[in-house]
Amino acid sequence: MSAPRTTAGPLVETPEQTALRRAVADLAARYGQAYFQDKARAGEPVTELWAEAGKLGYLGVNLPAEYGGGGAGITELSIVLEELGAGGCPLLMMVVSPAICGTVIARFGTEEQRRQWLPGLADGSRKMAFGITEPDAGSNSHRIGTVARRDGEDWLLSGRKVFISGIDQADAVLFVGRTEDARTGKLRPSLFVVPRDTPGFEYRAIPMELVAPEKQYQVFLDDVRLPAEALVGDEDAGLLQLFAGLNPERIMTAAFSIGVARRALATAVDYARTRTVWDVPIGAHQGIAHPLAQCTIEVELARLMMQKAAHLYDAGDDLAAGEAANMAKYAAGEAACRAVDQAVQTLGGNGLTQEYGLAALLTATRVGRVAPVSREMILNYVAQHTLGLPRSY
Ligand SMILES: Cc1cc2nc3c(=O)[nH]c(=O)nc-3n(C[C@H](O)[C@H](O)[C@H](O)COP(=O)(O)OP(=O)(O)OC[C@H]3O[C@@H](n4cnc5c(N)ncnc54)[C@H](O)[C@@H]3O)c2cc1C
Repeated sequence: MSAPRTTAGPLVETPEQTALRRAVADLAARYGQAYFQDKARAGEPVTELWAEAGKLGYLGVNLPAEYGGGGAGITELSIVLEELGAGGCPLLMMVVSPAICGTVIARFGTEEQRRQWLPGLADGSRKMAFGITEPDAGSNSHRIGTVARRDGEDWLLSGRKVFISGIDQADAVLFVGRTEDARTGKLRPSLFVVPRDTPGFEYRAIPMELVAPEKQYQVFLDDVRLPAEALVGDEDAGLLQLFAGLNPERIMTAAFSIGVARRALATAVDYARTRTVWDVPIGAHQGIAHPLAQCTIEVELARLMMQKAAHLYDAGDDLAAGEAANMAKYAAGEAACRAVDQAVQTLGGNGLTQEYGLAALLTATRVGRVAPVSREMILNYVAQHTLGLPRSY
């Protein structure tokens, strides 16, 4: 008889992953939801939490060890974000700084860019925002109108962006623009690191109904002069670079949604166990218990898909990870919206108080349905790529 196989896969976490999950849950519990939401309402970043998570190695767990990271993968980074969310501290900037920007620079940056950025992104002392969305392009990234022109050795970058998270907290923004192909004259995607204080780069906060420590910004880039080395990697790899960042972005958005959903369900279950308005706790009524059980199953299924996507990504299968990451982001966004809605309902009037912190999660979970790619665009993707149906737009 052969020995039982002990392969760690998406279904079975390694002891290190379980230990990481517990340690991050402890950190989140020390700060807690009240700290997080109070900071958000005051319009302040969660500086202490970010710094401590960075110092403990959680923020850069996915980045290469030779540049100060943990040398693990998106699987581990998603564990960190999920547990922070479950503890009431969902750090949206983790989706952007270590997951998108860190991945793109680690995989495609020049040696100089890696040395300049990765250690700081890993220990949390530096942050990078990510800007692709444009007011006139929206979901249609083929319409991106931000263009970089050559001016001697330099680049001149001009365009408009919208809904860019956390610029005020970031040292630089990784912008997606276009450059002209010297041979064909066609515009193709390229990525530029733009320090926040570069002349010609302006940003304005968009008033949002979100209780989050990150603000969203409108961006104006007017002939922003950048040195040649602001271009990430080389001009030919722009599309590849962009795709390299998209899978971690979707997986991490799923982790964000799942963490928030777990938090909401835990609050609701606690409440349902004790709140008594007839003779038994409200949790004894199936009208309260069954929807919570359903939501728990949906969140667990979404998490399974997220783990599959992260596992495929970390195994280097970008193509298969793409489909799984889209499905996971969709499933987690839907499950989280239903879970938070049901949690609010479970608490009755208390569901809408600041004390229980649930109402703020209503808008937080809506983000997972819209960004970074809307649920309709994921359905378009699955219809076309998974099912082979004609493209509808
Ligand atoms: C809180 C928050 C943070 C964000 N952070 C960032 C960030 O840091 N960086 C960044 O670059 N962007 C960011 N975004 C932007 C986000 O990625 C976009 O909002 C998202 O991609 C949708 O684009 P849009 O808002 O322009 O919607 P639109 O593209 O205008 O879409 C509007 C609606 O039409 C639907 N729709 C559009 N086309 C189709 C179609 N072909 N078929 C069916 N339905 C369609 C969409 O699904 C959506 O429901 C953020 C957004 C939010 C809300």
